[in-house]
Amino acid sequence: MDVSRRGLIGIAGAAAAVPARGISIAPPADPTGFQPAPGIAHLKYNENPLGPPPSALKAMADLARSAWYYADDAEERLKAKIAARLGVPADQVVLGHGSSELITSAALAWGRRGIILVPELQFDEPLLYPMAQGLKYRRVAMAPDLGIDLGALARAAALPGVAMIYLCNPNNPTGMLLPPAELAAFARSLPAHVTLLVDEAYMELADDPAAATMLPLVKDGANIIITRTFSKLFGMAGLRIGYAIASPANAAELKRHRLTISLNAPGLAAAIAAWDDGAFQQQSRAAIIAARRVIAAAVAKAGSSAPPSQTNFLFVKVADANRFAAAMAQRGIAVRGAWTPAWPQWSRVSTGWPADVARYVKALPELMNA
Ligand code: PLP
Repeated sequence: MDVSRRGLIGIAGAAAAVPARGISIAPPADPTGFQPAPGIAHLKYNENPLGPPPSALKAMADLARSAWYYADDAEERLKAKIAARLGVPADQVVLGHGSSELITSAALAWGRRGIILVPELQFDEPLLYPMAQGLKYRRVAMAPDLGIDLGALARAAALPGVAMIYLCNPNNPTGMLLPPAELAAFARSLPAHVTLLVDEAYMELADDPAAATMLPLVKDGANIIITRTFSKLFGMAGLRIGYAIASPANAAELKRHRLTISLNAPGLAAAIAAWDDGAFQQQSRAAIIAARRVIAAAVAKAGSSAPPSQTNFLFVKVADANRFAAAMAQRGIAVRGAWTPAWPQWSRVSTGWPADVARYVKALPELMNA
């Protein structure tokens, strides 16, 4: 099965696993019971069931006997690969236990210097630990279209005491991408002491990642940190590998605030293999974009709406997100309820196995007014 062209649109609804080039399109056998129970469409946490790629599975199996050995050499190897492909020196790449660890580290480090600004409607789990340690942060209101309001962030950043802005681009839970030129101009306009942390966890899924990433600004020496992850495009959320790209000084500061010896060898081995597996990356991206289109079309057909998504999820307007999620759960379909009480009508759904997406698409018009 070639998941790239006819894509998952053509096969949505077909439950049979048809592996081709090693990638299955329906759940594989799960002797561990770690995966969602059979019959549950798990479309809740923006994971990617197409991964890990077969190349990464083999790398983990090969690695197993070497797991007595600390992972420092593997860390250097992955760092070198990332640095070479992105065109930065290796000392500008920092690996983390998922990108979450690096965002947490940044918040701990920069939080000692001042306030962290965060858009109101945005993923912020990596800030929970720093918050528990007393992090001073300020939420900034969204634009009327649910986008990140760069004007409001610029005004907030001009106030005294701000050390960092943390924003996700594309954003979670909205899926929206900021216009690259606007974000770049915003980044350049910030006071020199304010560091911009751009979380690009979903960037590889954008229509034009090369145009949308803020990587060129990092290369220009701007006070920007970018974080990325192996959890999304690569389908390796459970392996906990992420990375940051930053100036040598910002990278060193991040590294100083990481947990000690937090990287795991199987995850690194898998990441090294997946990084070089261009065919898988292409198939994964194509499959996710195809599923995203299926959901977007169903949302429009149902008379609902969702912001334009550049990710592996959509933020769908329903009558009541919590009631909708509960009704979906009754049918074995797991989606997000209200993000916070401030957004009671929006329910996030992730792409997933085609058959699971098909179940969601069928149930949406029946349950959106629940
Ligand atoms: N950043 C964003 C925007 C996310 O949505 C997520 C997870 O959903 C993460 C970071 C966490 O990624 P990781 O698995 O690399 O810690």
